[in-house]
Amino acid sequence: MNNSYDMKSGNSTTMVGTTASDPETSFGSCLIEGNPDPCMIVIVGASGDLTARKIVPALFNLYLNDGLPYPFLVVGCARTKLNNGEFRDKMKKALLSAGIDQDSGWESFSQLLHYQTIDYRDLSSFTALAGSLRGLDKKHGTRGNRIFYLSIPPSLYQSTAQMFGKAGLSTENKNGWVRIVVEKPFGRDLDTAVDLDRSLHDHFKEHQIFRIDHYLAKETVQNILMFRFANAIFEPVWNRRYIDSVSITAGETLGVEHRAGYYEQAGVLRDMFQNHMMQLLALIAMDPPSLFEADRVRDEKVKVYRTMRPFPTDDLQNYLVLGQYGSGVVEGNKVPAYRDEASINPESLTPTFAMMKIFLDNWRWQGVPFYLTSGKRLAKKLTEITIQFKEIPHSMFRRILGKQVMANQLILGIYPDETISLIFQTKNPGAKVCLRSVTMDFNYHQDYTGPVLDAYEKVLLDCISGDHMLFWRQDGVELCWAFLTPILKECETCGDRSKMLLPYESGTWGPEAVRALK
Ligand code: NDP
Repeated sequence: MNNSYDMKSGNSTTMVGTTASDPETSFGSCLIEGNPDPCMIVIVGASGDLTARKIVPALFNLYLNDGLPYPFLVVGCARTKLNNGEFRDKMKKALLSAGIDQDSGWESFSQLLHYQTIDYRDLSSFTALAGSLRGLDKKHGTRGNRIFYLSIPPSLYQSTAQMFGKAGLSTENKNGWVRIVVEKPFGRDLDTAVDLDRSLHDHFKEHQIFRIDHYLAKETVQNILMFRFANAIFEPVWNRRYIDSVSITAGETLGVEHRAGYYEQAGVLRDMFQNHMMQLLALIAMDPPSLFEADRVRDEKVKVYRTMRPFPTDDLQNYLVLGQYGSGVVEGNKVPAYRDEASINPESLTPTFAMMKIFLDNWRWQGVPFYLTSGKRLAKKLTEITIQFKEIPHSMFRRILGKQVMANQLILGIYPDETISLIFQTKNPGAKVCLRSVTMDFNYHQDYTGPVLDAYEKVLLDCISGDHMLFWRQDGVELCWAFLTPILKECETCGDRSKMLLPYESGTWGPEAVRALK
């Protein structure tokens, strides 16, 4: 709350809300909401990379910030033989290598961690797991509330979900709720996505399924909705009359790293476009939902996906540029070409870069191109959305300046700059009429020094609270695959496949051909 002076009435008024100058009382209370139910999270594939690098560090941070329910348990499962002590040691090492300070809290947190060896293909393993979970429930009071987190290769999602069902672990009753978390990729194309969903639904109901896209949980991505719909001044210009184009860029400097096996099969379209890029597109293009509530927000996103104009597959080159990185220099280091990376086929035709031009067939966006760009080994690690406004309709300065006045730009920086910048024209000081472009910047963390939830902390917390807002709904998944699948088919089966894939030097912004697309 803060006090201000009402100019009309001359009275002092109290405004409900927060101020940037009062971080202690305002943002601090925004960090964690509610009082979630006691529960346990069962991580399947707990010997793997995601568990060590993301899931357990996120749970530990939540624990330190009093963000976990009480009681709460973590049960790791995988084929690797470990006992509780060995699992705890492994997680401790993972936190250490992530640079997370364990001085405070680790000893008590580690007591929440348990481990059970399972064989994903053996039903008796899952019935034994069911028995162990019942025992833990009884001992610790987690009341039968369970989250099953599938942190295994996607090829195991369907069979593992079936095993949970057959072992009676998917059933909810008065004794507790059951949720299942699935990591992207949700299938390889439309058919496999539908198939995966059918398998999940054999034993789980839609309200039990949480399809994670952790990108959505980044603070600055969530902020897009607040920026657009908690302010009245942007919505009137957020359309084809004022906006010339929208560019959504997610660039990485990293190459394929240790995920060669997965990436060779996926490529950039499946890895980035089917999920993260489509979510950013929806957040920028959607209409305001009537309520900030999971299904209302997801309804509006789905409406955007329904309006995506299908690419003419016989004219792909005017809508899509695909590339694959060659060798080059990134951040001062020499890096190899994609085809020379470990475990990559030396004749691989997997794209590591894509730029696509998308049109949305509706009143708001008719004729406005959305340029979506993502790639590996680019010049900079950066995620940014640029709203390019139209030029002024008539320049009264034309005789003096003799050129067009530069149009406004609004830049939503997601990473590394968590900023909102508006670029506009002002007069240059002096007697002569000269214009200059200036930037008005808002830094997302301005005047805030408190803790911030990382994306995995936020999605885990939402899953614990049963809030689907930041998770994919199946209709959205299928609409995005329906858009991408014909493109993938064309790119992956056409005779001159290699011609479609343009080489680019590592450390640049992709193939030259992207210029022709704009
Ligand atoms: P891993 O490749 O590390 O696999 C996790 C565990 O699954 C392994 O420790 C292993 O455990 C088991 N496993 C691996 N391969 C097989 C196999 N062929 N057959 C049976 N079991 C196998 O995966 P990640 O931890 O990296 O990722 C987990 C999921 O999350 C994947 O679906 C991935 O696509 C997704 N994801 C991962 C991200 C990341 O940063 N790592 C980011 C976003 C999504 P054991 O042998 O002990 O059973």
